[in-house]
Formats: sequence, structure tokens, C-alpha cells
Amino acid sequence: MSGDAHPISVDARGCASQPPLPATPQRAAERGQREVFCGLTGIIWLHRKIQDAFFLVVGSRTCAHLIQSAAGVMIFAEPRFATAIIDERDLAGLADANEELDRVVTQLLARRPDIKLLFLVGSCPSEVIKLDLSRAALRLSNRFSPRVRVLNYSGSGIETTFTQGEDACLASLVPSLPPRAAGAPANLLIVGALADVVEDQMRRLFEELSIGEVQFFPPRRSTDLPHIGPSTRFLLAQPFLADAARALGERGATHIPAAFPLGAEGTLAWLTAAAAAWGIGEAVVRRVTQAPYERAQRALSRYRDQLAGRRVFFFPDSQLEVPLARFLATEMGMQLIEVGTPYVHRAHLAADLARLPADTVVVEGQHVERQLDRCRAAKPDLVICGLGLANPLEAEGLTTKWSIELVFTPIQGFNQAADLAELFARPLVRRARLVA
Ligand code: SF4
Repeated sequence: MSGDAHPISVDARGCASQPPLPATPQRAAERGQREVFCGLTGIIWLHRKIQDAFFLVVGSRTCAHLIQSAAGVMIFAEPRFATAIIDERDLAGLADANEELDRVVTQLLARRPDIKLLFLVGSCPSEVIKLDLSRAALRLSNRFSPRVRVLNYSGSGIETTFTQGEDACLASLVPSLPPRAAGAPANLLIVGALADVVEDQMRRLFEELSIGEVQFFPPRRSTDLPHIGPSTRFLLAQPFLADAARALGERGATHIPAAFPLGAEGTLAWLTAAAAAWGIGEAVVRRVTQAPYERAQRALSRYRDQLAGRRVFFFPDSQLEVPLARFLATEMGMQLIEVGTPYVHRAHLAADLARLPADTVVVEGQHVERQLDRCRAAKPDLVICGLGLANPLEAEGLTTKWSIELVFTPIQGFNQAADLAELFARPLVRRARLVA
């Protein structure tokens, strides 16, 4: 969906106390019309991850259409998301809307005893009629406790972009995490939804590094919520989790600053940061990671010829842009023309920002018309952008990559490094064939 004039700025996210960005790369902020999906999109990967959760969007037919079409592959499975449609009658009276919501939830839970965690997901329409979903969640949680926990968060296009839905979802779950016993040994929490195959690989590596207890958040089952407290240290697996990280900090957990695990170098840096927090030295990290690191480097070398020297332009979309740009520039030799991103969390992105070439231009926020002008003038070899911009730019002869694919595809870790590179190489190969 597209939104209008809802810039995401440092102030808008309440992070004015962030440390200043390093002197390089160059950075600018833009405000204006933007072209991004709303936070409902996150339901597509979150419902696959938390296998006993259900996402009930309280929204319009447009919202229902968005998640149905984005999750078309689910058509043969019993879906774990739905939309409670707000219609004209509900718009006329909030009492009706609350009654209707209770009726829909009661029917749903009677029909689906497998649901243990129910998210009421706010949308633009529920926000416009000021339906208080936090009160609804409390009311319904009391009614269905202890069988089902009911939580709420907003995926509305007025408040969230694309990947912020996951952030809002995880932040809503943090207060439900059980406390860790006082005096318990330190535990490592990996925060951010990862594909199961990636999670399994990471778990094996952490075991080989002899980092004690490691848990993943969100868990695969809502009954396996991690215990957290002041002895918890957390490592972000995704760069768009500002609110979830803040909520974990409020529970006493400590963030481990690290580059994000994209590519061979990014993954090595991420694992090294976790190991260092446990006092595990680089020699051990090298021994444990040597084989998968070298395999990743060999696999990446196949794509360097195709990518090195090619010029890439990022439109802001997923908040993955800065770590992706770091990977493309430092590991694949691509030239960064502009790295647009919806929001720069300076602390979480510090390690990736520091690794970007000194002349990189990072643009925070969006003024889509100005950005399109800059992109057309630069004539990049590859444009990373949302679906809404890709087709028109392709029609103008530019080569594009849909940023949404980078969120749906397993791209983190050593074993996925080559798959990540291939996602950028494929459109270039396709274009070369077309013009040949
Ligand atoms: Fe569109 Fe808003 Fe619904 Fe998202 S939440 S699908 S932007 S109406």
C-alpha cells in the first residue's frame, strides 16, 4: 500500500537521544510522499514462524486483499490469519464494532482449539474509528485465559511500514516473556524472525562456540517463550527492531552491538560479537567458523564477477538497506550510488555504517519524486525498490530487484550468503539476456 507524507524521522520514532552518526558515510534526511507496504505484510512471515499463533487483522476489505494476495501460497493450508472486516455499520458505532469483534474471536477460538496466541492487528480503518484494540485484547485475554493469550499491535499504514509490523508484534510480546530467575547464568537471545533452516544453522554454531543457553525470539511455539531478565544479552538478527529492543531493555536485557549476519563477513562479525560477550576469543571463533566461512567465500566468488563494479541504487523500503549495502560494497565490490532507507537506528546500525565506503550517501526517509529524479539521472545498473516502483522503472529500461524478496527469502548466515548474492545477480543476468 502506499502512504502519504508520513515521514519516519529520528524525532518521529522518539529516538532523539541516539548517538551521532559517524562522520562518514554522508547522510541526508528526506520527507515527502513515500511508497511502501504497510506493517500488515509482516503477518506473512510471522504466521509461518510462530506455529500456534493466529493473526486477526481488524480492518477493511483492502487489508484482507493485501494479506490474501501476499500470502497466496497459503491457499491449500489451514490459514493462521484472517481479517475481521470493519463495515459501514461499525463505522457508525464503536459499541457495535467491539461486540462484533468479540463475536468473531469467540467463533474463531471455538473452531480452532490449536490457537494458543491471538494477535489483534490494528489497521488504518481501526485507527480511524479509534477502536481501542489494547482494551479489546485485555477483555478477550481475561475471557479466554489461560487457554489463549490475546495481544494487540498496529500494522496500520498510517503508523508502520513494511517490516515495522514485526517490530510492533515482537514489542507487544515482550511484556509476556516470563522472568529469568535471579542469579541465573547469562543467556543469549537472538531477536528477529529467521527462517527455521537459518535458525538451526545458527543454533549449531552457537553450540560449537560453547555459548550456554541460546533462545530465539519469536519462538516457533508460543508455549516456548524465552525467560528474560538482567542476565539476558540479546543479538539482533534483523535491523528493524527498534521497539522490540527498547522493550527488552526495559526488562533489563542488554543489547550486543554487532554487524548484521549478511554475507560471509557479516555473519562472522555477528558471531564474533556474541562470542566476545561470553569472553570467547577470536581463535575459538576462527576454528569453529573456518569451514563454513571458507565455503561461503567460495560460493560468493561465483557471483563477484557478475556484481563487482556494478552500480546499485536503494530506494527505502525494508530497513535492511544499510546492511545489504555493506554486503554488496565490501563483499561483492558493487558501487553504491545511494542507500535510501526508511529509518536509520544509529546504535543498531553502527557496525554496518562504519564498514560502508566513506563516500556512501545514506538517505533516511523518502521524497519519492526527488529520489526517482536522482535515480534516473544516475542510470544505475541495479535498483532495489518496492513493487510499486519496480514495474515503471523496468519499463524505462532500468533493472530492478523487489526488496520484499529480501525479507521473504532466507538470506542470513554462511550457508545463505551465495543465495543472497544470487538475488542481486539474477536480475542483471535476466537483463543481459533480454538485450543480447
Ligand atoms: Fe491499506 Fe492501511 Fe489496510 Fe495496510 S492497514 S492494507 S495501508 S488500509
